[in-house]
Amino acid sequence: MKKGLLIILSGPSGVGKGTIRQYLMKYSELNLAYSVSVTTREPRPGEVDGVDYFFVSEEYFKQAIKENKFLEYTSFVGHHYGTLKEYVENLRNEGKNVLLEIETNGAKNVLDQVKGDGEVSIFLMPPSIEELEHRIINRRTEPEEIIKKRVEKAREEMKKQSLYQYVVVNDTREGAAQRIRDIIVSKM
Ligand code: 5GP
Repeated sequence: MKKGLLIILSGPSGVGKGTIRQYLMKYSELNLAYSVSVTTREPRPGEVDGVDYFFVSEEYFKQAIKENKFLEYTSFVGHHYGTLKEYVENLRNEGKNVLLEIETNGAKNVLDQVKGDGEVSIFLMPPSIEELEHRIINRRTEPEEIIKKRVEKAREEMKKQSLYQYVVVNDTREGAAQRIRDIIVSKM
């Protein structure tokens, strides 16, 4: 069986990666599996353990680093996030195209490790910075100082788009999802 692709989707906080991911998961022809990450941050309302993230303690996260369980990990605005190596490999070996929704440091780490091994990297851009800031602020699921940090981080992350093979502007959700679908299909 052909090994699945490793699809890395990044983009600044608030750009709408979650929504695009939901669209992509519905395209059955893509044969996608989502790589559920491990995080030490608290679940947001509606987030489900094992579906959106594996929500764990600091101790658990540190132990997982020691045991070399991560393909990559990073910290982002005060919390740790990591991609489980075995989880991703098992799915790829089953022929699934695995979607990683991760930030730019983690993406760079993965891309440094897997050159020419079925990787597809996509950076999702907002139509404008103003709109992005508006979206982060209006999410209102975090305290103000965290929102400020996320806006700063978003500006930093957008400078790293050249790391990626593709840049897609999230002008309309359907349009962006379809363009990403076409990219993935062209690599299958
Ligand atoms: P959020 O707290 O908004 O869910 O995620 C914050 C950022 O961390 C987002 O850019 C998200 O894509 C990224 N992220 C989620 N999981 C991982 C992971 O396993 N590794 C890395 N490097 N970034 C992650």
